[in-house]
Amino acid sequence: MDVITHFDEIFLKGKNQLMFIRCLADNLDELFPKAAIQRVEGGFVILNLEDDDLERLSKIPGIAKLAPCQVIGNSMDEIKKCLSGMEFDKSVREFRITASRSYKKYPINSDNINRELGGLLIDKYGWKVNLTRPELNIYIDISKDKAVVYINPQEGASGLPIGSAGKVMCLVSGGIDSPVAAYQMMRRGAEVVFVHFQNQTQVTDEVSLKIIDLTKTLAQYQSSIKLFIAPFAECQRQVVMKIPADYRMIITRRLMFRIAEKLSKKENCQALITGDSLGQVASQTLENLTAIYDSVDMLKLAPLIGMNKSEIMKLARKLGTLDISNRPYEDCCSLFVAKHPQTKSKLQDVLELEKQLDLSTLDNLEIISYNISMIKQD
Ligand code: ATP
Ligand code: MG
Repeated sequence: MDVITHFDEIFLKGKNQLMFIRCLADNLDELFPKAAIQRVEGGFVILNLEDDDLERLSKIPGIAKLAPCQVIGNSMDEIKKCLSGMEFDKSVREFRITASRSYKKYPINSDNINRELGGLLIDKYGWKVNLTRPELNIYIDISKDKAVVYINPQEGASGLPIGSAGKVMCLVSGGIDSPVAAYQMMRRGAEVVFVHFQNQTQVTDEVSLKIIDLTKTLAQYQSSIKLFIAPFAECQRQVVMKIPADYRMIITRRLMFRIAEKLSKKENCQALITGDSLGQVASQTLENLTAIYDSVDMLKLAPLIGMNKSEIMKLARKLGTLDISNRPYEDCCSLFVAKHPQTKSKLQDVLELEKQLDLSTLDNLEIISYNISMIKQD
């Protein structure tokens, strides 16, 4: 299958255009190694895709619109032949043709192309023209050496191509939110590295597999993903022993941030990403977020902070992470959550409690790293 993709307009403005376009082309090259990419006005034509690639392509950051297309010669005869051979939905009554010429020396102007081709279809099917809300919009993009024909393009993910905005590290739990948060950052052009904190006393393989499956699913959009799994049992043991139950969650999350910050420096990541959404769980009140986010100086971003759970779940379903996130397993935090966790923690109290901990354990963790890739192989 061949598909036309149009760039999101935002990055077509300004001097960095070429960088963005190159970045998107490189991403597509890696994600669809068997496809061939051709530059056309405002986008790419991607040749030789598999049928199920269309769905995946609709989630690749940087693409605003896409549609299966036919690439043909640009003579009117060839375009007419192409239209006559196309099959249309039987229910169609109203249509329009939207021709555009990037090759301005083409002998017929767009209006006349629309009229001539429109007339052909009216004669053949008896349809009516509807310029504002057509059921069927047939696009014909004419360039110097070819014409691309497609109908009713669908919305893409839009945003910026992954890698164009730098690198960040996402703290990924086995829950629904953090994988979606990672994708939201990808959609704004960030390359995402993942870190998961694991209590090895749990059923370790099951947990690792879940996190690996989540990252693999996201590797459909960012072709290769680095995942760190950090052992967390010793940190938790200390927290359980030395911190009162209602403050454990907050202090645990502060320790996660500290480890993630160290890793980020090594990986050249510029921000830490979480799946926090305001008020969703006890650790996500403004007071608690203040106490948690104070733990490191590095930039922390929570792209889901203003989203409702239902919106997050909808996106998770679309990305393919929801079913994996829903697999039962105990997140390391849920093992020692207090019945009534602190919802209005005070930073002063947190700092005081934290003095009980030996933070040097954070320096000697044996962190495992994986390179996750989803590139289809034969
Ligand atoms: P999620 O659905 O992403 O698990 P949540 O609503 O369950 O989020 P919390 O469990 O309080 O909320 O976690 C808030 C955020 O802290 C997560 O979105 C994630 O970024 C980070 N986090 C929590 N547990 C872990 C973990 N074990 N490893 C890495 N990050 C974690
Ligand atoms: Mg969680």
